[in-house]
Amino acid sequence: MTDLVSEFSDPLSAPFWQAAARCELVFQRCRNCGQSSLYPRPFCVSCHSDTLEWEAASGLGIVFSKTKVWRQVLPTLPPPYVGAIVELDEGPRLMTRLVNGEPSIGDRVRVAWLERGGQPRLPVFEPYSGSFA
Ligand SMILES: [Zn+2]
Repeated sequence: MTDLVSEFSDPLSAPFWQAAARCELVFQRCRNCGQSSLYPRPFCVSCHSDTLEWEAASGLGIVFSKTKVWRQVLPTLPPPYVGAIVELDEGPRLMTRLVNGEPSIGDRVRVAWLERGGQPRLPVFEPYSGSFA
């Protein structure tokens, strides 16, 4: 998986994909102001400090927004599927897909990992009935 990570990532996003290879979801947190963010950035979106550190996420969150996609855009992604924005318990939001059910906006979800032969695995989310952390 290390070869896949280096092939598909740049120095900024490499830690994200290296963690994904271990089925671990990570995000950046600003050491200066505490703001969390995801996708990988070179500086904090809140205070513009470049003192960002990687932190492991619990993998739990809520569905912030979602939509069902009915038209095929990618050959490897046949419709219908549910695209979503998930808000992690740690704060950042990420674009993703919902799998193994169709939770509603506000419902709890947890990360699952989508294997994509020949490419790094992707974080997707599935319904989760556990309580808030
Ligand atoms: Zn900051």
